[in-house]
Amino acid sequence: MTTITAQPTMTDDYKLLTPGPLTTTRTVKEQMLVDHCTWDDDYKAITQDIRANLLELAHCDPDTYTTVLMQGSGTFGVESVLTSVIGTDEKVLICANGAYGERQADICRHAGIAYTLYREPNDRIPDAGRVETILDEDPSITHVSMVHSETTSGLLNDIESVARVAHQHDCTMIVDAMSSFGGVDIPVQAWGIDFIVSSANKCIQGVPGFSFIICNTAKLEASRGKARSLSLDLWDQWDTLERQHGKWRFTSPTHVVLAFSQALREMRAEGGIEARHERYARNNRMLIARMKTLGFGTYLHDHQGPIITTFTYPQGVSIDFADMYAFIKERGYAIYPGKLTEEETFRLGNIGEIYPEDIERVTELFTLYLAERGLLAACTGNEDIATVLDAMRAAGESAR
Ligand SMILES: *Cc1c(COP(=O)(O)O)cnc(C)c1O
Repeated sequence: MTTITAQPTMTDDYKLLTPGPLTTTRTVKEQMLVDHCTWDDDYKAITQDIRANLLELAHCDPDTYTTVLMQGSGTFGVESVLTSVIGTDEKVLICANGAYGERQADICRHAGIAYTLYREPNDRIPDAGRVETILDEDPSITHVSMVHSETTSGLLNDIESVARVAHQHDCTMIVDAMSSFGGVDIPVQAWGIDFIVSSANKCIQGVPGFSFIICNTAKLEASRGKARSLSLDLWDQWDTLERQHGKWRFTSPTHVVLAFSQALREMRAEGGIEARHERYARNNRMLIARMKTLGFGTYLHDHQGPIITTFTYPQGVSIDFADMYAFIKERGYAIYPGKLTEEETFRLGNIGEIYPEDIERVTELFTLYLAERGLLAACTGNEDIATVLDAMRAAGESAR
């Protein structure tokens, strides 16, 4: 007997299948019920503890690396690094294969920072050999920057090889690991990454409000005076955190910081990055396997990361995303529109407080949607929902 476990109910209490903000635990949210002052030693100790914890997660030696916390969303963190560490007589090579790589070029244009843009299509990764050629041909390039998990497509870039080439050319390596840090293990120091950026509301599973930057301390110190912005001055932010032992330079997002501290504790209790990666990767494998039985394909054929997946629609079937979105959200899950210009797609994230049960439930809802709109046979070649669900479960189980 096949039954559908998802109950179609109207609710505001839905889960987010988006790459951040994402679904957090009740215990993380409960930390925000406290109004904390920022000048006491106990609050500063929380900030210092977060900074030390992040260094540990990045596998960095505290003698050579340091953590800076920066108010604002993730982009503020990326903008802080780019506008603070690249001098007026320096130049950055941006390797881009999606919207977040393009955003780095946007930031440079706004700030008047010299840059070269090396573009790959959304489904291809920047190639270290190509980076090497570009650096050989243009000795004025001093920095290399790229995205790790390109959330536009869900692709995971090879930052290790590019960082190696950057270092061989004495270039500073900058990485936007916004949607991967904490969900994918990154040996930051061993790979020679000098600045890596992520934010509170992605794989650490906190709420939005600040970003964090793990910095090669010597390179950070050398950037003093280069910043083009007061609020986003990375060196100055660090200097205050250091001199005042965890005091933020301007108003600290206290509720977000307390929630983040709890999120770090919960991450440790889960088993750290390794366990979290395992859970995300399982979610991702199950999701792709189950969606494929409904005729949804993956946009990527190589380099699919474990964070978010871009899905293509079943061949020859016309599906209204807004209608599908509303149907699924009413039943408990927010899905995500596509961000590609060349193809009709949508995305499903599988990070946050999301477990195999959620993957099962949401893929059942897709099945129910197709059945209710009379599209099931066109998508799967089968009219019988019970048969489709059985096939989907079998595929999901073998992908676990
Ligand atoms: C989420 C994200 C960002 C930051 O986006 P914000 O909306 O500013 O938080 C930057 N880069 C990548 C790859 C991301 O996934």
